[in-house]
Amino acid sequence: MSNLRIVAEFAAVRWFRPLRTRGAVERRQRRLLRRHLRFLRRHSAYFRDLIPVRGGVLADLPYMDKSVMMGRFDAINTVGAHRDEALELAIANERSRDFDADLGTNSVGLSSGTSGHRGLFVVSSAERDAWVGTVLARTLPRGRLLGHRIALFLRADNTLYESVGSRAVSFSYFDVHADMTANIARLQEYRPTILVAPPSVLRLIARAADVGRLDARPEKVYGVAEVLEIADSHRIQSSLGQPMLHQLYQCTEGFLAHTCEEGVLHLNEDNIIVERESLGEGRFTPIVTDLRRRAQPIVRYRLGDVLKERAEACACGSALTPIERIEGRQDDTLAFRTAAGLTVPVFADVVTRALLYAEGFDEYRVAQTGDMRLEVSLDVLDDHARQSVTDELHALADRLGCVRPEVVFTAYRHDPSVKLRRVTRTWRRTDDEKL
Ligand SMILES: [Zn+2]
Repeated sequence: MSNLRIVAEFAAVRWFRPLRTRGAVERRQRRLLRRHLRFLRRHSAYFRDLIPVRGGVLADLPYMDKSVMMGRFDAINTVGAHRDEALELAIANERSRDFDADLGTNSVGLSSGTSGHRGLFVVSSAERDAWVGTVLARTLPRGRLLGHRIALFLRADNTLYESVGSRAVSFSYFDVHADMTANIARLQEYRPTILVAPPSVLRLIARAADVGRLDARPEKVYGVAEVLEIADSHRIQSSLGQPMLHQLYQCTEGFLAHTCEEGVLHLNEDNIIVERESLGEGRFTPIVTDLRRRAQPIVRYRLGDVLKERAEACACGSALTPIERIEGRQDDTLAFRTAAGLTVPVFADVVTRALLYAEGFDEYRVAQTGDMRLEVSLDVLDDHARQSVTDELHALADRLGCVRPEVVFTAYRHDPSVKLRRVTRTWRRTDDEKL
């Protein structure tokens, strides 16, 4: 790790790279893209055949996804990593929960597969330093820069996050797999000025604060790695005394968005290009090109997430595209049906909003397990809670002009090792691709 590289990146993002107009953003993207394509043609066997000697445009390159990345791993990466060897190393790291073994100067890790497939990622030490610099630039509050204590609660698949620590800023890593009571006692002692954790873990921390086991009040709190629901956000804000809850939208495929001081998400378009597959009404699936990741290129990588663009500009004045919210995985969009048999997609966010009005419980999950059949897990399973949830889901179906779903209930269990997705769909229609 090089502190110099981290500081250089920090300064560039924070002070020296003011991208105040769309023109400035696009000029920077074009310049980085030209350089990146030249690099890929020279160093990646996969891209050598795809990028013409002179120029080359993004639109001519094929899309990537997890299966392409895993299937063509050896040809795609530019550091000579072999898939089986890297996979073995990543699995050994995960088992030992140690993460020290590296592939030369590169780090390897597994990405959590919400879709069930495990992905493999490789980052060079320079990329890791740039990442740390960017994250610091995006997260440290205005004004005081030094002396921050940053607590990171993360799943071990994010080895990227672990690489930090310097005299100016201290980092403490908390393993979400470890006992939460012990984690919270450590947190109380560490007294972070900045707290970063998945929303499901932030809720546990908020609850500890509610019962007086934690009185540390960070200056800023970030939700990462999971979709942040509005109800969760309000709850966490009030328990931890935060005027707003921030977000870092980060996945294996890149650091995609961050909240500005206004609390609005902006795409990190200074380092990535986001193409859009429109889903209508401002919603889209992002196709991401990371202009700076060279060890394992991410080029036109189709993410399964659904994002909603913000209609108005943000008051912060940034030219980076503002995002209204991240609505979860496209695979988790529920499929309701009208009496006439037409399928109506119901976005995860629409379901969580409908359940804002249900009462009598605290934690929940909704899974579509069959044609117009929803399984709801609740932490409180009394008649009042069940009736309230059923009423809201029926009202939602009525509003959408759909058949009312059958609603069945199960007990809610918290599992910190699994990404929380409040709304999921496990059932597939035969004509699913139409959704
Ligand atoms: Zn903003």
